[in-house]
Amino acid sequence: MSAPSSNGPTASAPQPALSQADRLRLDTLRRRLAGDATRFAGYPVNALFDYRELFDLLGLPLNNIGDPWSPSLYGLNTHEFEQEVVAWFARQTHAPEDDTWGYVTSGGTEGNLYGIFLGRELHPEGMVYYSEDTHYSVAKVLRMLHVRNLMVRSNPDGRIDLHDLRETLNLHRDVPPILFLNAGTTMKGAVDDLPGVRAILKDLAIRSYYIHVDAALSGMILPFVEEPDPFDFAHGAHSLSISGHKFIGCPFPCGVALARRRIVDRIARNVEYIGSLDTTVLGSRNGIAPVFLWYQIRRLGESGFRTQTRQCLDAAEYAIRQFAAAGIRAWRHRHSVTVVFPRPADAVVRRWHLAVHEDIAHVITMQHVTPPLIDALVADVAAAS
Ligand SMILES: *Cc1c(COP(=O)(O)O)cnc(C)c1O
Repeated sequence: MSAPSSNGPTASAPQPALSQADRLRLDTLRRRLAGDATRFAGYPVNALFDYRELFDLLGLPLNNIGDPWSPSLYGLNTHEFEQEVVAWFARQTHAPEDDTWGYVTSGGTEGNLYGIFLGRELHPEGMVYYSEDTHYSVAKVLRMLHVRNLMVRSNPDGRIDLHDLRETLNLHRDVPPILFLNAGTTMKGAVDDLPGVRAILKDLAIRSYYIHVDAALSGMILPFVEEPDPFDFAHGAHSLSISGHKFIGCPFPCGVALARRRIVDRIARNVEYIGSLDTTVLGSRNGIAPVFLWYQIRRLGESGFRTQTRQCLDAAEYAIRQFAAAGIRAWRHRHSVTVVFPRPADAVVRRWHLAVHEDIAHVITMQHVTPPLIDALVADVAAAS
């Protein structure tokens, strides 16, 4: 494929061709990836998408540097589309219209870093509480931000243990808590009990606190089911992080960070010496990602995502039935596409790119994980056990 001719100022410059040997290397890479893609069932990533209609945008040096709502001297940006994407996610998560800010991130991890950063800026002496089922990147973020933190036990189903949380909070009542909660844990798809956590805060008369919700995967599932677990701004979250490449699907990682504007304004003032409104974690930012997310959102709409959610949940139920028929006990949370089963033999783990943790593994029934793929996986697991 050649670069589009009518686009950027560099598009017409002659490009040196790749050597024959390098072409062959690319062909080898393509073949390996195509093979691996046929057994891709262990990660919460949708592999079904087609962005070819947007191909010509790759011919431009797009960059969304700066705040999506601030004027920028770097004109080759997609801030308008970024604003629309953020507004759409804000609606899905019941964020107050006049008090919400957000931006398109490099992925769920950056959104979590941003949420903990906001919490710590509000409460510099604060203590972060998070469950042992929390994504591995959070421990690293806590080190980077050098914030006091305590890990809380999880229940066997992956949700934060409210008894342990209450006891731990009670021991440190002099310190404002920054609660890092999960809506869809990585291994078990568990949603922490946000109303339960808030009841504890009320009970202990803790009035100064911050709540960030990591909704990497389930932030794009719960808005589209009946009777979702409470997880969003309507139930007291101050900030939220959702991955873009997981449920929506994208050829590169991306995500969305959302926060109460009032809180972000305080941070923005704190860093005003940098020059303009420096509200994001990164400087140069991906200008393609907002257009890709916008494209899927406009094509599918809420009804399209509702249909996909239903199909993925049905596939999860199908997987549990097939495992049961093979004598393997698998389970999932009600609104989760993460199907947990006993860790199989290492050869099966490698062949299916399964994520494992201690004695469990999971299959995640994303859009491309269809009944024939599930049948093949279950047969492999059963044969090896
Ligand atoms: C995937 C995931 C993350 C990290 O998100 P990235 O988009 O991979 O950076 C964080 N938390 C949870 C619960 C996840 O599943």
